[in-house]
Amino acid sequence: MVEAPLAEGIVARAIARGVLDVRVHDLRDFTSDRHRVVDDVPFGGGPGMVLKPEPLFAAVDRIEQDRGKPDAVILTSPDGERLTHGAAERLSRLDHVAILCGRYEGVDERVRQHLATEAISIGDYVLSGGELPALVIVDALARFVPGVVGDDASVARDTFARGLLDFPQYTRPAEFRGHAVPPVLLSGHHAEIERWRRREALSRTLERRPDLLDAARRGGLEPEDEAILAELLDERRAGGVRKP
Ligand code: SAM
Repeated sequence: MVEAPLAEGIVARAIARGVLDVRVHDLRDFTSDRHRVVDDVPFGGGPGMVLKPEPLFAAVDRIEQDRGKPDAVILTSPDGERLTHGAAERLSRLDHVAILCGRYEGVDERVRQHLATEAISIGDYVLSGGELPALVIVDALARFVPGVVGDDASVARDTFARGLLDFPQYTRPAEFRGHAVPPVLLSGHHAEIERWRRREALSRTLERRPDLLDAARRGGLEPEDEAILAELLDERRAGGVRKP
C-alpha cells in the first residue's frame, strides 16, 4: 500500500537520485509472538481493536539504532494538527522524520504521549489507516526539499506559496471545442502575461478563498497586488463579479 506510490513520479525520482530516502517498516516485524499480532481489544470494552504500543515503540527503537534519533516522530491521527502548506514546509526542514501509521479503532494512547513528538491530520474525515496520510505527508514535504521538484520556481509559485491560489494554466491547442485560450497568453508580451497571472491569482483567491486573501493582506501584499485587488473590488461593487 505504501511502496507502490513511492515507486512513481517525482518522489520516486528523488529517491532514485538520492535526494530523498524513504524507508517503509512493517509493524509485524516488531512483534514477538508466532502470529505477529499488532492489535488487541480495548481496555474498558467497546467495538474494534487497538494498535498495541510494543510494535510501534520497537520500530522507532530500531530506526534510532540504525539511523539515529528522528527529529520528529509524527503520529497520523484525525485529531492532530492539520497538514497545511506551512506544516509541510516546516517538516521539510527536518533531516529525519518518522511517520507512524495507525489502524483499527486507533492507537494505544501511550504512543501519542510518550513516543510521538506530534500528531498530524490530513483533514476532517476518518480514513481506515494512516498509510494514505503518511504518503500525503511525504509527498507534501518532499516538494519543499531542494532538488526534488525539477524547477524550484514552480514550488514557489504553487497555490498557497504566496498565500494565494495559483493562476489558471493552459496548453495546446489554443482552441479546443470552441473554447479559446485567453489571448494575452499567446501575445508573447511577458509583462502583460505576468500582470494577467497576478490578476487571475488574486481574483480566484478573492472568489474561492477570501480567508486566504485576508491572511495574505495581513502578511503584506506587494503594492502592485494591492492595486490589482482594488480594481477587482471596484469591479465587484459595480456588479462585474465573474464566475469562479
Ligand atoms: N477511532 C479513530 C477516531 O475516531 O479518531 C479513528 C481511527 S482510524 C479508523 C485508524 C487510523 O487511521 C488512525 O489511527 C490514523 O493513524 C489514521 N487516520 C484516519 N484518518 C486520518 C486523518 N484524517 N488524518 C491522519 N490520519 C488518519
